[in-house]
Amino acid sequence: MTATILVVEDEPAVREMTAFVLRQTGFEVLEAEDEGDARNHLANTPPDLILMDWMLPGTSGVELTRELKQNKLTQDIPVIMLTARGEEDDKVRGLECGAEDYVTKPFSPRELVARIKVILRRISPHVSDEVVMAGPLTLDPMTYRVSIEDTVVDLGPTEFRLLHFFLTHRDKVYSRSRLLDGVWGTNVFIEERTVDVHIRRLRKALQPYGADGMVQTVRGAGYRFSEQATA
Ligand code: CA
Repeated sequence: MTATILVVEDEPAVREMTAFVLRQTGFEVLEAEDEGDARNHLANTPPDLILMDWMLPGTSGVELTRELKQNKLTQDIPVIMLTARGEEDDKVRGLECGAEDYVTKPFSPRELVARIKVILRRISPHVSDEVVMAGPLTLDPMTYRVSIEDTVVDLGPTEFRLLHFFLTHRDKVYSRSRLLDGVWGTNVFIEERTVDVHIRRLRKALQPYGADGMVQTVRGAGYRFSEQATA
């Protein structure tokens, strides 16, 4: 699945170059030149990661990051601070405000992309593009393909995202509302029973291969994915 990166940077040259590199890499990119822009994007399309310039007009990226990290709706979005060379104290401040990492400008595109991937893998494995496997099941986010042994499993886009979430969050029980947040996003208002519909479809797609038992119902709690399929 493609991760969406919000780039908050007031210098057009830096913002455009960064956005270009990220799009080339395959990320979806949202651009914000100031705090207001950033807030609009956050309200409409919550990103999977934020690149936050330290110095913004009217506010500082540090302040904005601190605020996002205190807000329940945004606190889980990882932030990488962009700081100018030599601002050693700022790096520390960047991390004190809750940012996950910082990158010093001017940065190499390759280094930036590498840092982003490390953080996405650590914090949001379900938006990373790494192939994940469970027993005979293989899911490849790059080709959008799920296979069992060598047979391709036909899945709808929501079932694909649901399975990707499960494969990267195994053996734990997730409530319907937690699944909605993780698979559909926190800004989508749909009913919890929608989750059941897609769970049913996912099981149905896995059933011919005897893998439907990996998606388990935990009574009164939600669902769990386990490689140890139960009957
Ligand atoms: Ca700036």
